[in-house]
Amino acid sequence: MLQFPIYLDNNATTPVDSRVLESMLPFFTKYFGNAASNSHTFGWQAAEAADIAREQVAQIVNAEPNEIVFTSGATEADNLALKGVFEMYASKGNHIITVKTEHKAVLDSCKHLEKLGAEVTYLNVNCEGLIDLEELENSIKPNTILISIMYGNNETGAIQPIKEIGNIAKDRGILFFTDATQAVGKIAVDVIKDGIDLMAFSAHKMYGPKGIGALYVRRKNPRVRITAQMDGGGHEKGMRSGTLNVPGIVGFGKACELCKVQMQQDAEKTSKLRNKLENELLQIDGTQVNGSRIYRLPNTTNMSFTNVDSTDLMMRFSKNIALSSGSACTSATQNPSFVLKALGLSDEIAFSSLRFGLGRFTTEEEIDYTIQQFQHLLSSVADKNS
Ligand SMILES: *Cc1c(COP(=O)(O)O)cnc(C)c1O
Repeated sequence: MLQFPIYLDNNATTPVDSRVLESMLPFFTKYFGNAASNSHTFGWQAAEAADIAREQVAQIVNAEPNEIVFTSGATEADNLALKGVFEMYASKGNHIITVKTEHKAVLDSCKHLEKLGAEVTYLNVNCEGLIDLEELENSIKPNTILISIMYGNNETGAIQPIKEIGNIAKDRGILFFTDATQAVGKIAVDVIKDGIDLMAFSAHKMYGPKGIGALYVRRKNPRVRITAQMDGGGHEKGMRSGTLNVPGIVGFGKACELCKVQMQQDAEKTSKLRNKLENELLQIDGTQVNGSRIYRLPNTTNMSFTNVDSTDLMMRFSKNIALSSGSACTSATQNPSFVLKALGLSDEIAFSSLRFGLGRFTTEEEIDYTIQQFQHLLSSVADKNS
């Protein structure tokens, strides 16, 4: 039986997997201790649970547990990486390279650093949403300290050539940070193979709870150091003070453990349904896919429906199908998506775009219903226009 509304906005957030919730519950009531209390069992139990979770979180990205710094989410991890590296490596240089289609947490951190004296290069993307590696190499200067390029884009799903970027950074002795919030849990991410020095990700994009995320900070080859942006009790090896969110951390760990087992299966299912949806909707006149269809997250498609305003489309569907025109973080603004504009789309096409984010719990019936609704609505629009 179809249950309404249908949720197709998994890039904004995912529901918590019931197995994740189950794992968290005892840590609100029975095992409520402060993980930093080392004089009694309440503290020891909390610390042990956080240790186990740290291992689970590290494992899904092939890191060591002591390379994981827990944060309140990917926004904080993005801030910590950029600001923390800028402060720590000030004597080495002040130049940061990033991309026009990054998440606002990265772009706004860069804007903040520019006011503090940073020099920032914003790389272009092509019509597929991908950077040009030659442009990246040419933008490197003697004072470049950091390359910050996201793994998979939250609006289009486009996956950047991460391994190649990692190699370039390593060759030139520059740190490489990636916001992998949309990639971790959906595709295999390996900080060693990909040559990543710092990496942000978040539990609530992978069936874990909101308000918990991590920054991976490489400990060897090279040892990366960052300046803390939150001072206090010296938690997380001094990189992020604050009492550990133990229930959140336990849930994050469980979410990672589940993704490790289920990632392949989730990816196969979502990509099959995504492709069905996309191919059916492409049959309708005036539709197109934005961004790479080859280098792409398995669950995402971003489509334009020319001659139709996407806000109008979304509103017509909003009772039954939850969709978005782009990033949840920028949906308060009336401007066309800056990500789609960077791909070279006109305002008009950008305004007629919708993002479909499928997930672990999306069913074929839901996709069939969605296809049918679009076919119905868009054919009536076409009739009106003709
Ligand atoms: C969701 C998202 C963020 C923000 O993560 P929070 O944990 O909600 O702060 C950052 N970057 C990308 C790419 C995202 O998709």
